[in-house]
Amino acid sequence: MSKKLGVGFVALFSVLAILLAQVLTVAPPVPDVVNPFVTVKLKSLSRNDALPLEISGRWQLIDSKTNEVLIERDNFQGDLVCDITGPKLGAYAANRDKVYLHCDSKDALRLNYFSYPGELIIEAERNRLNQYQQLNLYLRLKLEDYVLGVICGELPSQTPSIGAALEAQSIAARTYAIFKIQQGKQLRGDSRDQVYKGSDHNTHQARDAVHATRGLVLSEDGLILPSFFHRSCGGGTANSFEAEFSKNKLNALVGSIDPQCGDVYQRWQRTVPVDKLDRLSTEFKLGDTLQALNTVSKDKFQRRLVMRLQGENGHQDLTGEFVRARLGLPSMIWHGLILNRDGSITITGSGHGHGIGFCQEGAMRQAKQGLDYATILQHYYPGAEVESLTANLFNQ
Ligand SMILES: [Zn+2]
Repeated sequence: MSKKLGVGFVALFSVLAILLAQVLTVAPPVPDVVNPFVTVKLKSLSRNDALPLEISGRWQLIDSKTNEVLIERDNFQGDLVCDITGPKLGAYAANRDKVYLHCDSKDALRLNYFSYPGELIIEAERNRLNQYQQLNLYLRLKLEDYVLGVICGELPSQTPSIGAALEAQSIAARTYAIFKIQQGKQLRGDSRDQVYKGSDHNTHQARDAVHATRGLVLSEDGLILPSFFHRSCGGGTANSFEAEFSKNKLNALVGSIDPQCGDVYQRWQRTVPVDKLDRLSTEFKLGDTLQALNTVSKDKFQRRLVMRLQGENGHQDLTGEFVRARLGLPSMIWHGLILNRDGSITITGSGHGHGIGFCQEGAMRQAKQGLDYATILQHYYPGAEVESLTANLFNQ
């Protein structure tokens, strides 16, 4: 190599190095997946009721306003009560409206015989006379720990060969939690939101599923999807807009046929007593007796979307989901209705739950057939994107 050529190489290398350095400095940083804290309501405790509480290891009771440590001890076994002074742990009265119970070790908190990770938030509620009336108990924990407890509460996670359904459910549950937080709403630890049962029921299959999908969420048009899910669709999922679950039309929640569900073996039959029907009539001031319950609109799976109550004083239209809740029915997919002599009605139907979005029964069957979580999610949330939960997406 000549000296001139060598100098040329050095110059070219220097230019490349400068260009490379510029590319490296202007390239956007790789976004980090976030694992924020979430707060879930566990239960309320009425005045003078007691909940057994056990704590292993070091713990502190902290004033929520001032962060003052009110008491610090090792281990505890006793009752949590709401008495005249507010929250009380054993003999110790906090004398505060809101306190944090922080445990140094994970899963060191055992409340009502269930183990929990995270911190217990104890909030005392007063009545009109300014007396303590009840304690509201919340758990503050990391999102990924919460998702693990949810999939163990929502699915039989020890069942063999449903790993892909557990993964899909993890993504749906994580997304739903973020959606609720972004709406500024309280997450409840039961089927009104997502069933959360703490750490005792965690299985290694569930841990694997949460780990494999860590930080993954569903979005549509760059926004977190309201990723509703239910136990069994009964043959097809519902359109969330038509069922008045979503204010906006969402492509991922238009509903789809689900051949996995809806066979005759999965059908149910329920009899609704006449007094329950009449209560619906009096609730809407239509008269003492419900004269008719008619379908105003339904989808192609026979899911009642809007129902009309008829009483002697007029009529009232209600969403199918409202009627389902009031009558205590598994779903609003009805195949037959018989009016009995005593005024009660017997309904034959299929499905369990509202039928929007992800169907747990169908997902478990698809997983057993060998489908992966992405395929399962595309079936129930068509067109939705699976992406990482970054600070940008979380803070929208
Ligand atoms: Zn289904």
